[in-house]
Amino acid sequence: MATDSVVEGLRARVRELEEELNRVRRHETHRAKIGKMSAEVVDSNPYSRLMALKRMGIVQDYEKIRTYTVAVVGVGGVGSVTAEMLTRCGIGKLLLFDYDKVELANMNRLFFQPHQAGLSKVEAAEHTLRSPPQSKKKVHFSFSIFGQSLESFFFSSNFSKGGLQEGEPVDLVLSCVDNFEARMAINTACNELGQIWMESGVSENAVSGHIQLIKPGETACFACAPPLVVAANIDEKTLKREGVCAASLPTTMGVVAGILVQNVLKYLLHFGTVSYYLGYNAMQDFFPTMSMKPNPSCDDKYCRQQQEAYKVSLCRFISHSQGQIQRCLRMDLPVLLCKMVAGKRRLNRES
Ligand SMILES: [Zn+2]
Repeated sequence: MATDSVVEGLRARVRELEEELNRVRRHETHRAKIGKMSAEVVDSNPYSRLMALKRMGIVQDYEKIRTYTVAVVGVGGVGSVTAEMLTRCGIGKLLLFDYDKVELANMNRLFFQPHQAGLSKVEAAEHTLRSPPQSKKKVHFSFSIFGQSLESFFFSSNFSKGGLQEGEPVDLVLSCVDNFEARMAINTACNELGQIWMESGVSENAVSGHIQLIKPGETACFACAPPLVVAANIDEKTLKREGVCAASLPTTMGVVAGILVQNVLKYLLHFGTVSYYLGYNAMQDFFPTMSMKPNPSCDDKYCRQQQEAYKVSLCRFISHSQGQIQRCLRMDLPVLLCKMVAGKRRLNRES
């Protein structure tokens, strides 16, 4: 009898929670959109601190952030924090991709909560990311799960049609995955599409990381100078030893997510210097930077095609610029000479 009453009590509680969930869902689907990001300095305005960047002359047109779509592949230690930062900065649309589930072993990192263990990372992220005031009013989310076998066509179809406007491409792709196979799939898709993307990574010992901006044809792609595992065609799964896992620190992952999103904001909103490669060595607090040219013998045929296309566009740009300079010289030289002669005459008169 006692057991029956416990079961009945639990059923009633489940009904209660289901009703509450339905109420929340109804509320979520009827969000009002804010027409304009306001710069008004009042405590209730979620945009005042972001819009202050405009007033202080850092960013010319901050509102433009709402027109951009960013795809984040991998919603782990770096990707989840990246997605949250972009949401809080007011990004127009986010596409998130992951196939993994939240585990208690992830709790040394930021973002996910213990009660989300067992949920897929995209489901858990969806729930959390709909909470900030910015996202409640306007961010569009799209969530996808990819299978264990990574195929570049899965990414290319999502990147080429996932933009804010129906059928338009995304503005930027961010790789926040933790394996080379996924990076290579993203690399192939972006090379094929000519899609600009940013790579990120944290080392297995958790004390270094990097971000890298990749412009197909213009800078080195991931396959131009592949890591040894990729170059030697080694199956990554064979490298994992039983009972041994990679180390991870919320600090290093937070720093890498921070420099990644900072680079995204600078790239999309046109301020500061956008880094092509920025490393982070936590042991020495060293941040190396560099840029890498593409490899003309890259294994990726789309990379080689993009390199040829880039050379053609560069030649066009140079000849166009040369034409403009020549036109300026032809037009302005006589005017300049006249002014010099007139100036000399005036000086002579005055003396
Ligand atoms: Zn390449």
